Amino acid sequence: RNMKVHNFNAGPSVLPNEVLYKASKALIDFEGSGMSILEIGHRTEPFMAVMEEARNLTRELMQLDDDFEVLFLQGGATMQFMQVPMNLLDSGETASYIDTGVWSNKAIKEAKLFGFVDVSASSKEANYNHIPKQYTIATQSKYLHITTNNTIYGTQWNSIPETEVPIVADMSSDILSREMDFNRFALIYAGVQKNMGAAGATMVAVRKSMLGKVSRQIPSILNYKNHIENGSMLNTPPVFAVYITMLTLRWLKGQGGVAAIEQINNKKAALLYDEIDHNPLFRGNVAKEDRSKMNVTFTIDKPELEEEFLKFCKKEDIVGIKGHRLSGGFRASLYNALPLESVEVMVEAMKFFSLKKA
Ligand code: PMP
Repeated sequence: RNMKVHNFNAGPSVLPNEVLYKASKALIDFEGSGMSILEIGHRTEPFMAVMEEARNLTRELMQLDDDFEVLFLQGGATMQFMQVPMNLLDSGETASYIDTGVWSNKAIKEAKLFGFVDVSASSKEANYNHIPKQYTIATQSKYLHITTNNTIYGTQWNSIPETEVPIVADMSSDILSREMDFNRFALIYAGVQKNMGAAGATMVAVRKSMLGKVSRQIPSILNYKNHIENGSMLNTPPVFAVYITMLTLRWLKGQGGVAAIEQINNKKAALLYDEIDHNPLFRGNVAKEDRSKMNVTFTIDKPELEEEFLKFCKKEDIVGIKGHRLSGGFRASLYNALPLESVEVMVEAMKFFSLKKA
């Protein structure tokens, strides 16, 4: 592995080196068993222990109360767009959604298949360059859905909405990156492939007290209750993705947990935004108070230099900074496993390129 590549990919994305080393060993010989982690039954004791540890570490790192159950499911965060309303929203009932971009929109579209959706606020008119501040959540809403970090536009909720209505959150791109009172939520989901592990597993933390309230028949595999009753082993789980997740969670705990990683994440984001704000060639386009610390989006003031800057970065072993096709420009993703050093290299590259072009 080329340790010098600075991996700013938006997801799947950079993983801690020690996780990759451990996983590569387990791929050949899992804990001295003479078999690969891919070759053992998911109901064998060694794998059951992996699943339990992943679930327990998630609970511990998020400091979840006893009403929560942690599951690792398949189908991506995208499946949660429909599994959430299928389990929580009866037909004829209303759920509130705040539209902060592409991913919220996909969640809204699926929820409409199950009940009424009240889009309480949207920043669409402003090309999603901020998080809406003015909204009222109807008290009869079954839940309020928010996307805590908007991977494509580079905006992030900095506080949890004040409401009595249970809150459901898609935390795919900022899970475990900052301290938050996770117990304020009713259900949290996240594809694990950005901050928690490898593609193939989706973390769902759900309050048991939210379940069993809809009258519809829910297919077994889509019913959270069945997954809870079966210890997140209703059927064959995504064994390797869960293993990588467990290793990543161990790594995070070793770093000092969420509070410690947040300090580093704050430093990384501050360093890059500071350069964007002071370098005359680059520009940040989202509202400052809503800037994401996970996905930093920016543009270059001379569009004809965009390609050249990307090429320059590539030469400097900086990868993954091309912006999403919907928002253009650049996007540097600063997930937990991205070292501060990579951001320093990025900032140096921006300074150098800007001087060269001045
Ligand atoms: N929500 C958010 C905020 C995301 O960033 C993504 C993926 N980039 C998704 C949902 C979709 O996740 P998946 O591909 O795991 O279905």
